[in-house]
Amino acid sequence: MKKILVVEDELKIARLVRDYLHQAGFAVIEASDGASALSLARSEKPDMVVLDLGLPEMDGLDVTRRLRQSSSVPIIMLTARSEESDRIVGLELGADDYIVKPFSPKELVARIRAVLRRADATLGGGELIRAGAVTIDLPKMRVTVGDAEADLTATEFELLVTLARHPGRIYTRAQLLDALHGVSFESYERSVDAHIKNLRRKIEADPRRPQLLLTVYGVGYKFSDA
Ligand code: CA
Repeated sequence: MKKILVVEDELKIARLVRDYLHQAGFAVIEASDGASALSLARSEKPDMVVLDLGLPEMDGLDVTRRLRQSSSVPIIMLTARSEESDRIVGLELGADDYIVKPFSPKELVARIRAVLRRADATLGGGELIRAGAVTIDLPKMRVTVGDAEADLTATEFELLVTLARHPGRIYTRAQLLDALHGVSFESYERSVDAHIKNLRRKIEADPRRPQLLLTVYGVGYKFSDA
């Protein structure tokens, strides 16, 4: 049974989340502040952390930062609608996903399952990434769409690999630029948009209606996990 650490200072929400996660077959441990969240994460080794960003004293971003110093446990942030910039900082600190309050518990459970699936898949690793018609051969740095080889630049290749390694995971433009570090000297976040546009032209069946490289409005991009 997967164990989820829920960190939320609002008791009503905490109770709702706990009840739903129990019903969905998860074991739940709870914390209502950052310090106890960190100590429970250490002692209980949960499979995932559901973390409210608006916590008293140490906020959710600090908790994320501290957790990431020693752990790669998947983190889903609970955020208020007004916390958009915090959401982006959270993703940059290494949180895996976010959900905006008020949310339906059903949606939260679906997100948790998706992120856990992703985390399990990532553990496998491997030298080939397959997604739909696209195959990425990492050692040979070769990308094929169906039977045809796509001719990508080194920057496009790195960008595609970064996204395709974690289907469904949202990356901000800043994170994608970081991933390109070493292949590209460009430092403008908008240059990511230009590379994505070129990539879509090369690998999407219809670049105007992308099915693989998806835009997450106001945040960045993700590779389809459909
Ligand atoms: Ca709160």
